[in-house]
Amino acid sequence: MKIGALEAGGTKMVCAIGDETGKIYEQVSIPTITPEETMPKLLEYFKGKDIEALGIACFGPVDLDKDSDTYGYITTTPKTAWMNTDVVGYFSKGLGVPVGFDTDVNGSLLGEVTYGQAKGLKDAVYYTIGTGIGAGIMSGGNLVHGAMHPEAGHMLLRVREDDPMPEGICPFHGACLEGMAAGPAIEKRWGRKAIELKDDEKVWDLEAYYLAQCMASTTLFLAPRIIILGGGVMHQTQLFPLVRKKTAELLNGYIKNATVSDMDHYIVPASLNDDQGIMGCLKLGYDAANN
Ligand code: ADP
Ligand code: ZN
Repeated sequence: MKIGALEAGGTKMVCAIGDETGKIYEQVSIPTITPEETMPKLLEYFKGKDIEALGIACFGPVDLDKDSDTYGYITTTPKTAWMNTDVVGYFSKGLGVPVGFDTDVNGSLLGEVTYGQAKGLKDAVYYTIGTGIGAGIMSGGNLVHGAMHPEAGHMLLRVREDDPMPEGICPFHGACLEGMAAGPAIEKRWGRKAIELKDDEKVWDLEAYYLAQCMASTTLFLAPRIIILGGGVMHQTQLFPLVRKKTAELLNGYIKNATVSDMDHYIVPASLNDDQGIMGCLKLGYDAANN
């Protein structure tokens, strides 16, 4: 089946054509400007490509409640030009094919559980640690939506005493996970680009301390079988052993379970060479046409 995939991000829109095996035939990237300027370019790309469905994984917040009047909209985003943008309606009308729609992070998670290392697992969590922090959650085989969708990137934290920026930078919560551990927080705290801090051990020790709190809370709340960490910050692969060790310390032996104890396979990097998002869109499109 020929499927269109749109990974709609705050800085760029990745458009691709592929199929339900996860094969990508072609792919382009279009900058995210305004809906007026960008949406017609996206539609133009997909038109005439003979797709039978489209899957969209979108930056948010988005409305995922199928009973809502604004289902398929980007809602209260800080990217104000995109507030109240009807994404699903625009492509449904413009292309006349079924459209699957979910958050960007659920898209990446779906890519990993369909085609990647989490294949076949029904309980999995995907975090992106980048400009912001977002969580995609699958429980019992279903992507979790709820009243809106989880915003676990804003979970509250215990601040470490030696943190030179204990107040955090989230405009809503100060020292929440995103306010302490997303790329911009690292850069504000240490006054340099995260990538330039590679060899500074104290930077990654503190970063791992905050990420480990998230891993421990995620384990306690959701009992996933795997937690996948993606996003730009996780290119610092030295974080993985640190996060695993500190997660085990925080759980302090309370969880006696083989899956969780096998930390090397429990907290893992994304596995699809940064294609997890666009591949998840293929599955979203496929499911929209077949469910
Ligand atoms: P986005 O979240 O905007 O989709 P990314 O996941 O690439 O994009 O996240 C960008 C953030 O990740 C920036 O704040 C940047 O500092 C950080 N980042 C990107 N690459 C690296 C790297 N190699 N090492 C550490 N931090 C990085
Ligand atoms: Zn916050």
